[in-house]
Amino acid sequence: MERILVSACLLGRPVRYDGAAKNVDDELVGRWRAEGRVIPFCPEVSGGLPVPRPPAEIVGGDGEAVLDGTARVLTGAGADVTAAFVQGARLALDAARRGGARVAILKEGSPSCGSLRIYDGRFSGTSIPGHGVTTALLERSGVRVFDEDQIDAAATYLRTLESP
Ligand code: SF4
Repeated sequence: MERILVSACLLGRPVRYDGAAKNVDDELVGRWRAEGRVIPFCPEVSGGLPVPRPPAEIVGGDGEAVLDGTARVLTGAGADVTAAFVQGARLALDAARRGGARVAILKEGSPSCGSLRIYDGRFSGTSIPGHGVTTALLERSGVRVFDEDQIDAAATYLRTLESP
């Protein structure tokens, strides 16, 4: 049975920068959890960042550019946390590979987990299209990333992987 890597904050774990969770109350995710198919993961905490932590944004591009070395992840005070974000992405990919997950459901808008949009690096609350750092690495490595509003699409994709 296919397994699914899921942002730990979507599963109710209080790992976000502000010490909160963003629990997604979804029947399918509940069923997958009961079946032991869910791999909870927080790239930022695994990359060594504390809870709570200063909010960070990608400056100069998106997660793809961070992986290519042309953008950085900075806190609002200007601290460079790029290395922790890249390490968290690598560990997320390790977790997916170890667990046999080819699908991930990650929290939208995060500089790690965003898949459709991220914030624009000016700490102004403005979002732009782009991948977070973990999403960029997972997608490059063949793990398909969906967000918390695309759980039905993730289930459809899982079925295509599971069909003979
Ligand atoms: Fe949630 Fe991802 Fe942020 Fe961790 S890095 S708190 S899993 S959105």
